[in-house]
Amino acid sequence: MTGNPDVIVIGAGVIGLSVAWRCTQRGLVVTVVDPALDAPDSGRAVGAWHTAAGMLAPVTELHYEGRELLALNVDSAARYPDFAAELAEATGLDVGYRRCGTVQVAWDAADLADLRALHAFQASLGVTSELLTSRDLRKLSPTLAAGLPGGLWAADDHQVDNRLLHAALLVAARRAGVDVRQGHVASVDVRSGRAAGVRIDDGASVSAAHIVLAAGAWSRDIGGLPDDVRPPVRPVKGQTIRLTAPPDLLPHVVRGSVKGHPVYLVPRTNGEVVVGASSEEAGFDIRARTGAVYELLRDATALVPELSEVTFAEVSTSVRPGSPDNAPIIGPTRLDGFVVATGHYRNGILLTPVTGDEVATIVADGKVPDILAAFSPDRFGAPVAATGAASAAAAAATNSSTPIEASPCTSP
Ligand SMILES: Cc1cc2nc3c(=O)[nH]c(=O)nc-3n(C[C@H](O)[C@H](O)[C@H](O)COP(=O)(O)OP(=O)(O)OC[C@H]3O[C@@H](n4cnc5c(N)ncnc54)[C@H](O)[C@@H]3O)c2cc1C
Repeated sequence: MTGNPDVIVIGAGVIGLSVAWRCTQRGLVVTVVDPALDAPDSGRAVGAWHTAAGMLAPVTELHYEGRELLALNVDSAARYPDFAAELAEATGLDVGYRRCGTVQVAWDAADLADLRALHAFQASLGVTSELLTSRDLRKLSPTLAAGLPGGLWAADDHQVDNRLLHAALLVAARRAGVDVRQGHVASVDVRSGRAAGVRIDDGASVSAAHIVLAAGAWSRDIGGLPDDVRPPVRPVKGQTIRLTAPPDLLPHVVRGSVKGHPVYLVPRTNGEVVVGASSEEAGFDIRARTGAVYELLRDATALVPELSEVTFAEVSTSVRPGSPDNAPIIGPTRLDGFVVATGHYRNGILLTPVTGDEVATIVADGKVPDILAAFSPDRFGAPVAATGAASAAAAAATNSSTPIEASPCTSP
């Protein structure tokens, strides 16, 4: 590429790549910078996109969020069929989007009562789900453990293979003309009161009229930013496990809470089953923790006993970009030319289509779409300082864990 780009995107996770791809389609010249393009093979830290399970779960995630986030989640889920088809046409790559639905199972009578209350709450918001009896459960998913008292069927909660999605976005962005560079952005250059470029740790600096920060959980630690512009994201460690099972073992995504421990099973068509996930306040310590692996396997096999006979393939660990209110932070900031797209926490794979489309609108047209109004970076009062490696290490020392995450399989 010769000359400066119009847009620099910091971070080539699913969010950064979708923003870059969409901005290029709007006629802008885009550079994306990320240090971990080869990380899955290098053993270095890698974005949450690599660890995620790929549930697209606006319904079964509902109890964790407010109405605005529900609307954003539902909107993004509705964009998925076209998004997956457009990516397939642009790249020839399948992203594993499967309209399989999700079975949420109750472990005991108290759990079933909670699911009934959740069902009523969902209905009050116009969200469709169906109560299931014990017999319904076994009919829908015959390998579920005997004796589970009932559950909930979320026909609209689906899945995508997040690793295939990332691979396709990378190819689509490059084919559309995005310059994807390996590098760690050390700081944003602020000149005359506006963001004017970035400095990369190899000493290079690149100038552009628009900078989009999409560095996931690492977004808070980019240098050069005024504290009132720095997004207040924190790393929320999560572990998933990948198993190799017979492809027909599970027809749907299964979520459950075994004696209070949430767990989910996401079956791919090739027999891979993703089991997740732990949720730990452990800073940037992404070492796999044996207790989390044990708990996930214990709870997964409690729901589907046959899983104890399948092949163990992988443990994956990364950090979700959590925000103070667990909702994403998307939009222009007080610093001219500087747009943030981060804080997607548990739903960044689901929110990839809407974030890519609407951030491109912000950059290209200078307008904030209504659907993003509730997610403005300005909604948090106090300015934040960078977390820095020291505070991350301190958080790692007080590691606690509570497994969370969970939810949703027919090709489009
Ligand atoms: C265990 C687990 C399970 C999950 N399950 C689901 C799920 O089922 N469904 C769902 O919707 N979501 C799920 N998520 C959440 C989802 O993975 C994230 O919300 C999503 O990946 C956020 O995307 P992102 O591109 O913002 O960040 P990331 O995917 O984390 O990517 C950030 C990128 O920024 C790069 N970067 C970091 N620092 C810099 C820098 N200084 N300069 C340049 N680049 C930098 C990183 O290398 C990385 O490539 C899960 C997450 C975890 C951890």
